[in-house]
Amino acid sequence: MNITANVLRNLNAYIFFCLATALAQSQTIGAPGTRVAEPFPLSDVHLLDSVFKQNMERNARYLLSLEPDRLLHNTRQYCGLQPKGDIYGGWEKRVFAGQTLGHYLTAISQQYAATGDARFRQRIDYIVQEMAVCQERYGDGYIGAMPPLALAALRGLKAGKVGLNGAGVPWYTEHKVLAGLKDAWVLGGNAQAKTVALKLADWVDALTAGLTPNQQQEMLVKEFGGMNEVLVELYQLTGNTKYLDVSRRFYHQAVMDPLAAGKDELPGKHANSQIPKVIGEAVRYEATGDENGRKIAENFWNLVTAHYLFAMGGLSDKERFFPEDQASEHLSFQTAETCVSYNMLKLTEHLFEWKPMVAYGDYYEKALYNHILASQEPQHGMFTYFIPLKPGSFRTYSTPEDSFWCCVDTGMENHTKYGEAIYFHDDSNLYVNLFIPSVLTWKERKFTLRQETGYPDGDRTELIIQSASLKPLTLQVRCSSWANGPLTFELNNESLAVDAKPGQFAKIKRVWHPGDRVKIVIPMGLRTEALQGASNKVAIFYGPLLLAGDLGAVPHSTNYPWSREHNANIGATTADVPVFVKESPTSLLGNLRRIPGPRLVFQTTNLAKPKEVVLRPFKDLAYEYYNVYWDVIPEAEWAKQLEARARLVDEFNPGEHQSEMEHGLVADHSRVGDFKNSKWRDAMDGGFFQFRMKVLPGTPQDLCCTYWGGDTNRDFDILINGKLLAIQRLSGEKPGKFLDIDYPIATGLIAGMDHITIRFKPHDGSIAGGIFHATVLRGAP
Ligand SMILES: [Zn+2]
Repeated sequence: MNITANVLRNLNAYIFFCLATALAQSQTIGAPGTRVAEPFPLSDVHLLDSVFKQNMERNARYLLSLEPDRLLHNTRQYCGLQPKGDIYGGWEKRVFAGQTLGHYLTAISQQYAATGDARFRQRIDYIVQEMAVCQERYGDGYIGAMPPLALAALRGLKAGKVGLNGAGVPWYTEHKVLAGLKDAWVLGGNAQAKTVALKLADWVDALTAGLTPNQQQEMLVKEFGGMNEVLVELYQLTGNTKYLDVSRRFYHQAVMDPLAAGKDELPGKHANSQIPKVIGEAVRYEATGDENGRKIAENFWNLVTAHYLFAMGGLSDKERFFPEDQASEHLSFQTAETCVSYNMLKLTEHLFEWKPMVAYGDYYEKALYNHILASQEPQHGMFTYFIPLKPGSFRTYSTPEDSFWCCVDTGMENHTKYGEAIYFHDDSNLYVNLFIPSVLTWKERKFTLRQETGYPDGDRTELIIQSASLKPLTLQVRCSSWANGPLTFELNNESLAVDAKPGQFAKIKRVWHPGDRVKIVIPMGLRTEALQGASNKVAIFYGPLLLAGDLGAVPHSTNYPWSREHNANIGATTADVPVFVKESPTSLLGNLRRIPGPRLVFQTTNLAKPKEVVLRPFKDLAYEYYNVYWDVIPEAEWAKQLEARARLVDEFNPGEHQSEMEHGLVADHSRVGDFKNSKWRDAMDGGFFQFRMKVLPGTPQDLCCTYWGGDTNRDFDILINGKLLAIQRLSGEKPGKFLDIDYPIATGLIAGMDHITIRFKPHDGSIAGGIFHATVLRGAP
């Protein structure tokens, strides 16, 4: 019998069988952790037409456009075989080589499991066969695409060299390769993948077996992906406790122990390095009942969702956690790495399975609609790396063949598995967690359910029973915490009394008959959500959807909307963002009105200044400048801002390309940097920088410069057209804050001029600046 076909039919039963075998073999492993709600295999959930199915099909076209021989280039090259295709660009040419092939194997295996499309099975078979040939040549069990020096450094582990110098992040890459092979085996039904994967896992064992506990921990300082996760899964699949032992060598004490104890030591840590480790410990709990794993997973999830989330469900700035009360300093071009949400959703599924709670479903829905859907470019199915939340910013997408960032690779997976968190079950309950048009075929129960919905553009969903047995079954429907009141239910067009308060699952228990129809109305409305630690900066939601200001189309350029480099557009000019003028954020919803029509479009009225703004679902603003968090200020503050605007003659943003170009910047021995989410420029070692600013002839004006109040020992001259305006000394007079200094410009200094050149020149051995912002203002009245 073809075991893989069996696996496809019911992976969970298979894992349970293997676990039972493992338990019989070993006395040291506890009972597996309790899983209350089981997921359905992807093959049991068929998507009907919706944005999810369209994204999945767009992604499938991209997956099919990639050539396996090109993805295998490095794999063949480095084991001494002639490559059969040219190498792809981007990260494929860097030390991360190999991660794409691994993620690609997972993505096409999931796509195959979800659709049964034979074209993906052919690719799985071809790639695995090629990898087996290369593994044979390596001879020791290794397979991957690591450059020779990196591989040599990894093999150095056998000799106790745990620094992995020159290897980049080799376990991170190998995790993708091993996980891809495991998925090709389990989801793709390829038996050869099992052999190749287990040989690779044995190699991991051989490399790490001799390490002392201290050496293991030292090795784990470098990002290692989910090595612990995939090794525990191999134990689940084979029943061989050896893989469980190897997985324990990837338990990272420095990060996991504080989490198990409920301590928050996350600020400053690289976000996407930690989540896969947590998932690995969650899977360990499932496999062995290890309570430590359960605590790590639950504590981490609770901490992250309570303190570190942005409104779109993503987190991190410059890939790292930051203290929650500093969130307003972290609305940057580098927020919300897409891999992070990919991993958070994986973790959330595990937690939901242990304890089906609305909070898990709500978070999953939030990140799915507002991050994952926003991460796919709607024309070609390209991918975001960061999703910028800097006010007035925009998204940058990958190119088809020259990017291959980490987020392209996890992105290829994201859009193949939309079916996996819609429904869950136990023996007598079926959980309807997401409202996505789909057909569920629950084979063991001979139960088929069709979900038809226009949600969340509309506020209702309909569950149609197409086949059912005579055993009673309880439908449990998630009632989102944000709902504007209890959900209402109808069964076969008659009102049904169900306890359906927001924040709980509504339960309907009965013997279902083919043709039964349950209509559900989910009361949706507008609401605000404040940025962590900044109650006057709010995001606006309608139902599950984050709304964002549409600030107009972004002009195309060499790096926009597609770019090889994920950081290419950092520092690009942003759009001007209105403020909301209101005494309190709680009262602004009355100033939003929906524009009639099938789409969700809202307009501010008598709220946004200096002009009103149109709001659309954030996910849909693919090629526009947008804004998510709105500054809500009282009328008096707006009057002050208006006065300042009326005084503004010219404005210069150091370090920002467009502004520096427009102001004719010239610089020598000058540096640019980014601090507190603002760019700065300084000059040192006898250098200088200068720029041109507009002035009004014959009018008293001030030059206003912004510095960092903590900078000390900086002495410099400020010159206008070569004549001294001021001698400035910065001596740390305002620690922890920005410092504005006004320099009155004598009218005689600019007589008859409409532009002046302003030069910053350091005194000997000192630094001029850094300056963060400069304006010319009409003299205060
Ligand atoms: Zn990434």
